[in-house]
Amino acid sequence: KLILIGPPGSGKGTQARLLSKKLKIPHISTGDILREVVKNKTQLGQEAQAYMEKGELVPDNVIIEIIKERVSRPDCEKGYIFDGFPRTLTQAQMLDKIFKEKNKELDLVIQFKISDESLTKRLSGRLICSKCGADYNLYFKPPRVGDICDRCGGKLLPRQDDKKNVVINRLKVFKNQTKPLVNYYQKQAKIKDIDADKKSENLNQELLQLIDAEVNPNGLPEKQSFPAESAEE
Ligand code: AMP
Repeated sequence: KLILIGPPGSGKGTQARLLSKKLKIPHISTGDILREVVKNKTQLGQEAQAYMEKGELVPDNVIIEIIKERVSRPDCEKGYIFDGFPRTLTQAQMLDKIFKEKNKELDLVIQFKISDESLTKRLSGRLICSKCGADYNLYFKPPRVGDICDRCGGKLLPRQDDKKNVVINRLKVFKNQTKPLVNYYQKQAKIKDIDADKKSENLNQELLQLIDAEVNPNGLPEKQSFPAESAEE
């Protein structure tokens, strides 16, 4: 059971997807789940959209219900990777309660540390495929042709909440509401830092080594046999 903590644009999503494939456990992104809910235009979706458009956090009780439902599915038996959750102290405390009820324990929290300069580029250059959700970046991982997805030919669009004023708010919210979690997990001696400024492939290798060293080494499939893999995967 892993948690990735880091500011928006620090590469958590990309890394969580790669880790999920290699460790064969699901990637649970509350942001992705919420974007799906918004797309479906349900009552919950409309409520969530209002917060997301402003870069504010969706209320804790909504998020906890989403998580409870998600981790009770059979594919979560062996573990999972949280990306973008928990984001507040209340969410972290509620998660501890869920673990306790299920007789499970959190393994590791990884904090993605990144310079402001990289963060700005990553956010302002980010493009997402409107059809398959693949992510690109104009600076680091440009599509082969214009604004067309290499994989499925879908149109690439910036994320709604990557607009400048919304980004500024999201970073502020991260600093005020999510950063305090670092302290919370430090007290539990569960958190490790990683330098997220490096290239995606290198970062992925480092993450795997960190997880291998910190989390039950025999629990990972085929120890030390992870091939170098491109972030496009
Ligand atoms: P993300 O894709 O993780 O950057 O999330 C996009 C947006 O979804 C955030 O700016 C929040 O509005 C909302 N969101 C995602 N995860 C959470 C969470 N754990 N708690 C509250 N709001 C969230």
